[in-house]
Amino acid sequence: MNSLASLDVAGKRVFLRCDLNVPLKDGVITDDGRIRASLPTIKSLLERGASIVIGAHLGRPKGEIKSELSLAPVAKRLEVLLGQSVDFISNNGAAVTLLENLRFTNAETSKDDAERAAFAKELATLADVYVGDGFGAVHRKHASVYDLPGLLPNAPGLLIQAEVEVLTKLTKSPERPYGVILGGAKVSDKIGVISNLLSKVDVMAIGGGMVFTFLAANGKEIGSSLVEIDLIPTVKELIATAASKGVTLVLPTDIVVAPEFKQSAIPTVVPADQMPSDQMGLDIGPESAAIFADEIKKCKTVFWNGPMGVFEFANFAHGTKVVAQALTEVAGISVVGGGDSAAAVRVLGFKDSDFGYISTGGGASLEYLEGKVLPGLQALGL
Ligand code: AMP
Repeated sequence: MNSLASLDVAGKRVFLRCDLNVPLKDGVITDDGRIRASLPTIKSLLERGASIVIGAHLGRPKGEIKSELSLAPVAKRLEVLLGQSVDFISNNGAAVTLLENLRFTNAETSKDDAERAAFAKELATLADVYVGDGFGAVHRKHASVYDLPGLLPNAPGLLIQAEVEVLTKLTKSPERPYGVILGGAKVSDKIGVISNLLSKVDVMAIGGGMVFTFLAANGKEIGSSLVEIDLIPTVKELIATAASKGVTLVLPTDIVVAPEFKQSAIPTVVPADQMPSDQMGLDIGPESAAIFADEIKKCKTVFWNGPMGVFEFANFAHGTKVVAQALTEVAGISVVGGGDSAAAVRVLGFKDSDFGYISTGGGASLEYLEGKVLPGLQALGL
């Protein structure tokens, strides 16, 4: 396996693929976790005398130049965190240059192999070697993630190495009991991982918007909550599989409902089997949160992906907060699986150091746990 330490970078130009896909609100970065997570590799390369061209993406511009998805604010933030100047787009002599959002070019994400290969060839002219450190994008077969490493001597960066090490621990011989907590908006995003993990975990707790498809599959009234009707048969099968494999499937016993999806909506706690038909579930209830927390604290290995409710609204953040708190009390390894969950724990006031590990990649970590081959890791020989 190639390693960063054995890659000759002194005096070389390194193309460094990072994941700098940070949440922005009105042009302001609301969580810079992914930029911070990229710093160790950047610093290490600079210390070893390399100059760096960073390639990254922001959001899904779909091949169009969208000013609100420019990486300009990220360049500024990176400059502050790094404590040295960062050129944006044009190389004016700084040791670090950040390219504009690679996804402004359609070929970056193209399904056409030749189109992607041509773009990768263009990017390859910018550097002598390639370092892949954008963990949040490794599940994508994109030019800068999958095609480009094949054109240059390459190695995984320190972030990817750390991510893979933690996820390997979860997949090979996790200490038991092993619990997984899943939430977030959609079941469809998580069917694969649920089905794979049912043969590996001891406990699986489900909350968030996706739980209503589970409650509906159990024949419960779910009012106007989020639901994926077409997935009810699949979810019924998953529930049966959990039972046959002896996995404790923990579903909420109470729900925080509201008449509308609004910050100011009035919350009411109801038993999970008595949801009013004209209201929607926006969080797991306090009793459920306590049960989830108990189950989590009993585990020696815990993986959590997806908020338990609409944590962005203060009235519906309780479940997510309680689950996050429980994770900080695990006497073993606790992993927060990327994306929204990572942002949620920071927004809710937890420190990164409260958790065993906070992954930078939501989709990537789920696909890894699902047992899929991730193109960006495959390309780096991992
Ligand atoms: P995901 O990207 O799938 O992890 O989903 C994260 C989003 O799910 C967050 O923005 C939450 O606000 C949202 N979410 C969580 N619980 C609910 C719910 N009960 N109803 C609607 N949205 C929810």
